[in-house]
Amino acid sequence: MAKPVITVVGSINMDLVTIASRFPSQGETILGEEFHLIPGGKGANQAVAAARLGADVHMIGAVGKDAFGTELLRSLEREGVHIDNVKPVTDKGTGIASITISEQDNRIIVVPGANHALRPEDIDRCEEMIAKSDVCVLQLEIPLSVVERAAFLAKKHGVRVILNPAPAQPLPQKLIEQVDFLTPNEHERDIIFEQVDADAFADKVIVTEGARGVTIRKDGKQMLIPGFRVPVVDTTGAGDTFNGALAVALSKGMSLEEACLFANAAAALSVTKLGAQGGMPMKEEVERFLK
Ligand code: ADP
Repeated sequence: MAKPVITVVGSINMDLVTIASRFPSQGETILGEEFHLIPGGKGANQAVAAARLGADVHMIGAVGKDAFGTELLRSLEREGVHIDNVKPVTDKGTGIASITISEQDNRIIVVPGANHALRPEDIDRCEEMIAKSDVCVLQLEIPLSVVERAAFLAKKHGVRVILNPAPAQPLPQKLIEQVDFLTPNEHERDIIFEQVDADAFADKVIVTEGARGVTIRKDGKQMLIPGFRVPVVDTTGAGDTFNGALAVALSKGMSLEEACLFANAAAALSVTKLGAQGGMPMKEEVERFLK
């Protein structure tokens, strides 16, 4: 069987992770315990999740012409993700997330950099690629105008669109009309429908609810597709694994229910290991887990 073809339009970040026993107070310098550079960004994470699950994945995004950009492109390539449509940007640095983890709390600053230099015209240049895809996957860490153009072009060519509306912002009705599935968590669901009647689009909404699994609407009724009970190590990237896996499962012609079950399984496996991309399972691991 031919591999499913999936286009992911989204963010590519380097996560700068510092682990310290506590946060410094104002003006104070303290010694931390560990520092890690970890590839991230919702777009790149979802692309990697789909590639590990056996899809032919094409990434559309932007990185700076700097060391992080070079390293992130290499890391995507190692995962088998096609990077021909990742734009090198000269006037902005590669996107980063500065993450400090202490025993009490996590603190995160995201600098979008090159991710925010993506323009709708960059998407127009990839129209042929989008048209050839089975599914197009989108999130909200790049300009909304870019997300809207990608959804528009995908719809024009009859390509199914999954929008993971994170980080959440109120969405225009037109965009919601053009996507096939929205995958908010419970908090994001309330924000994205602030300006739009949520009931009118209830059939498109897959609400992720952590360990509980996901809720979809079927035949006018809410239906829980239960999650899998696993030993939890790190839940970072569970949502991204869910979205990448959902895209792969839908591309293979699974029903929404079957696809959510498959994606719950992949996401559950991802929380049993450390790191967002670090824990994303291969196709065979999910198949074995579901047997
Ligand atoms: P987000 O991280 O985007 O808030 P969720 O926490 O809802 O998303 O997680 C997304 C999906 O990952 C869930 O719907 C579920 O399938 C899976 N998942 C998350 N946490 C767990 C967990 N502790 N055990 C098993 N599966 C989980």
